[in-house]
Amino acid sequence: MLKIENLKVKTKDKVIIDNFNLEIAPGEIQVLMGPNGVGKSTICKAIMHHPDYNIVDGKITFNDHNLNLLDTTSISRLGIFLLNQNPVEVEGITNAEMLRTALSERNDTKVDVFTFNKKLNEVCDLINLPKDFVHRDINFNMSGGEKKKNELLHLFMLEPKLIILDEIDSGLDVDALKVVGTSLKKYYDMYHPSMLIVTHHSDILKYFDQYKVAIMDNKTIVKTGDKSLVEKILKTGFGASVIDGSEEYE
Ligand code: ADP
Ligand code: MG
Repeated sequence: MLKIENLKVKTKDKVIIDNFNLEIAPGEIQVLMGPNGVGKSTICKAIMHHPDYNIVDGKITFNDHNLNLLDTTSISRLGIFLLNQNPVEVEGITNAEMLRTALSERNDTKVDVFTFNKKLNEVCDLINLPKDFVHRDINFNMSGGEKKKNELLHLFMLEPKLIILDEIDSGLDVDALKVVGTSLKKYYDMYHPSMLIVTHHSDILKYFDQYKVAIMDNKTIVKTGDKSLVEKILKTGFGASVIDGSEEYE
């Protein structure tokens, strides 16, 4: 389970997150929404302990591991996976090479080629990914939609316990959104991970039945609720009654 307590995050000299609290139980889906620039991506990066984001107060724990004390690689080894708004391109290293190394390191033993290739094939079939993706350089020369599909390959191969989606539905065309949405739902049904979903449009949410919702404004969470809160926001925006609490949700 993920637990964020009284978090305060600075970048350079600017406080971006303050007094932020959030818990996500195993198998629970938590949606995080809010206007541009309120710190949603910063929360995602702080969980991964991105070096540009300085945790000056508070604590992030995942299954009793204090993430403040770990580097990004160690955090991903614990089973936390961030699907980025802009996945990085790595020229010269193929998906297969990276995934085999990552799995070998995590299991502390060399992953058997036969088992590994079998799983790669199964995953490609499961998410309708052309098999040649496996031997392409990581996200290199891929379109935005292809990069997101490529990240799905990583997801299914690495089998994380907590998935963080930072605006996965921004910039995806309808077909790509469908692939991503149905694949994530498949993953959820197979493994029941915890999920933190940051979204503006809520397009991705229609693939999930149950989730909690938190609204961020000015460095912290200002409102929590259920599915109905998303519907309200889509109708009226983030201002007025949604944030000032004039209408109560659980
Ligand atoms: P959101 O994802 O909610 O749109 P962000 O977390 O990206 O918001 O950013 C929150 C605030 O922090 C913004 O004002 C942004 O300009 C600022 N910020 C984010 N990252 C950096 C950085 N590396 N350096 C300076 N300011 C940053
Ligand atoms: Mg963002």
